[in-house]
Amino acid sequence: MTDPSPPLIEIHGLTKTYGSHPVLDGLDLTLPPGVHALLGPNGAGKTTLIKILSTLLPHDGGSVRVLGLDPRHERRRLQGMISLTGQFAAVDGALTSLENLEMLGRLFGLPAASARSRGLALLERFGLADSRDTRASTLSGGMRRKLDIAAGLISRPRLVFLDEPTTGLDTRSRRVLWEEIGTLAAEGTSVLLTTQYLEEADALAEQIHVLHDGRIVAGGTAEELKELVGGAVVHVHDADGTVLEELPTTGTTADLAARLAHAAARWPEATASVHRPTLDDVFLHLTEAPRAPVAARA
Ligand code: ADP
Repeated sequence: MTDPSPPLIEIHGLTKTYGSHPVLDGLDLTLPPGVHALLGPNGAGKTTLIKILSTLLPHDGGSVRVLGLDPRHERRRLQGMISLTGQFAAVDGALTSLENLEMLGRLFGLPAASARSRGLALLERFGLADSRDTRASTLSGGMRRKLDIAAGLISRPRLVFLDEPTTGLDTRSRRVLWEEIGTLAAEGTSVLLTTQYLEEADALAEQIHVLHDGRIVAGGTAEELKELVGGAVVHVHDADGTVLEELPTTGTTADLAARLAHAAARWPEATASVHRPTLDDVFLHLTEAPRAPVAARA
């Protein structure tokens, strides 16, 4: 028997190399059940990590446990407990919304009547009941993404991986999807999402981890991460208000004066303003500077 309450994810020294290009380089990460966001610049290895955790890609070295199981050697058991949606959409455009859910239900071994009733319940739950007989290929981007997430829930997974779930959606559809993801969490389903939107990580995740140079360089709540940047950030603007440069400071008068002197030398005509750090500042601080020391609960 598996331990009844293993960590959601437990990774030690994970390595993955494509050819001679190391993507994950001794990554450590332990996550309790809950909603987590993985942030990293483009090419950081987020999708690679999600593929390893969801059994789609074997890793090279280190140890990986998802819900207490090894994705390499306990693949089938783990596949029955997780779902993956996002960039690898499972939805078949030629089938209707309901047919898609019924087909996936059957693939997961549900009898036909149960697959249908579960499919109908999920369509209702995601506000897609009116589109049950609409071909998936003709749904709007936001509706299709919701159908994709609903499809991932057919098997009642304990952990849902969402790889950039709202990329390409307009603001309204993104917010609707956030609500659905929030509901998932309230129902006790754990979520690991990757996102390029810091606002999204802040809105959805209890814990945010930042992936950079093949490792987790920081982790914690949004507030804990903001504390890493320190007291205040100087924004340097051009005449149109476009931010030319963001300069983190410790918040002391001496540091502010030094940063302003630097800005004045570089942009003598620009204006400057002082802000509380945002998650964007944290992200820049962690991913543009040389690797920062690992922060709280990384
Ligand atoms: P992210 O999701 O953070 O954008 P990825 O995991 O997709 O990052 O990619 C990480 C790095 O690995 C990138 O430099 C990418 O070009 C490279 N990469 C991803 N998949 C492959 C592959 N199948 N073969 C070779 N290189 C790859």
